[in-house]
Amino acid sequence: MEEINIRFLGGSDRVGSLALLAEIDNHKFLFDYGLTPSKPPEYPLPAPPVDLVFLSHAHLDHSGMIPALCDNASQTIVTTELTAEISDILHKDTVKIAKADGYAIPYSLGDIRRVQHCLKTFRPSQRYEIDDIEIRFHSSGHIPGSLMFELQGSRNILFTGDLNVTDTRLVKGCKPIPCEILFMEGTYAGREHQKREELEKAFIDKIEEVISRGGKVILPAFAVARSQELLLILRKSGFNIWFDGMGKKVTKVYFKYPRCIRSIENLKKAFDSVNLVHSDHGRKLALNGEVILTSSGMMDGGPVLYYMNKLKNDIKSAVILTGYQIENTNSRLLIEEKKLDFYGVIEPVYCEVEYFDFSAHAGHSELIDFAKKCHPEKIVLMHSDNRQALAEPLKDIADVYTPNNGEPISL
Ligand SMILES: [Zn+2]
Ligand SMILES: [Zn+2]
Repeated sequence: MEEINIRFLGGSDRVGSLALLAEIDNHKFLFDYGLTPSKPPEYPLPAPPVDLVFLSHAHLDHSGMIPALCDNASQTIVTTELTAEISDILHKDTVKIAKADGYAIPYSLGDIRRVQHCLKTFRPSQRYEIDDIEIRFHSSGHIPGSLMFELQGSRNILFTGDLNVTDTRLVKGCKPIPCEILFMEGTYAGREHQKREELEKAFIDKIEEVISRGGKVILPAFAVARSQELLLILRKSGFNIWFDGMGKKVTKVYFKYPRCIRSIENLKKAFDSVNLVHSDHGRKLALNGEVILTSSGMMDGGPVLYYMNKLKNDIKSAVILTGYQIENTNSRLLIEEKKLDFYGVIEPVYCEVEYFDFSAHAGHSELIDFAKKCHPEKIVLMHSDNRQALAEPLKDIADVYTPNNGEPISL
């Protein structure tokens, strides 16, 4: 039995900057190479040359540093076509934000362009061979285009990236894959999700309550997947909705990949039923509407700050967060202190602040159930700030590892 040597370059003990280096059957692989989009951004350790890079999905905490691997075009990156196209949008945006904020830029526009020459794209259920290792691609149920990677060589491995087992409006949940060594994310370790239908109903009820008292609702949402999920949830609500920010562009990309979306017809109908904001004039009109869905999800930039600046003192209005709030971001400041940083000026917020957790990750019990059904001998927990919560119950079924970033271990 060949030994597998691994080392996390980032993201082992937190939700951000995920990067896992693995030596398997004489090959060097890198699984994801992300950054943490906090202020300032956080980066993983530098990556040595590898034979193959696996990119699970487009979210920056998994894809953000991929262009830094492409200073020459000889690197090979395996992912889906949709992930490649969305990542490209996010990489360009990362450079733009770093320039605007005055932070060091981690790669050039030339590096971003070179990624296109490094890609090898696959669909779930396809296979790929590298010497004696067969690679199988599976949907991870997290966002459109997201993958889990199964490697069958002298050992049988599964790398989950971010995973969800529950169906959302946008994508169907994933299924466990039998494996010997499971690398599993733990974003929601120690936390359970409310039932989806109850959550959606409470969300719509809250919006109705705000509108009926004469307020507006701002929905800051990640451009990738969360904006589209909210469009689908709001589709039949009848609210007057305005859609602003990068989510519009991402939605149009999704239309090109109907196979990656649970119901492309519903997404088209939802998109057609909202008002799109394209200009300053449009932003003024949006403020006369009822609901404004806009980026950025963590409120560190984008049109959301324009709307918040207009409505922050209006106690009848509300801002409803729906995503995971990374530390050192504006939305975390809002949730914890009811304040927002408006481009360097921190101001109190008097409108209502609510949080509905429309997570695209498996919850605590779902992760344990998923792991059990994979029947692994060894489990490596990653991408979680609470790995112990999962490690304890999983010790009954497998050897559990929680390595630190930079710490080499053999499996
Ligand atoms: Zn993700
Ligand atoms: Zn993630």
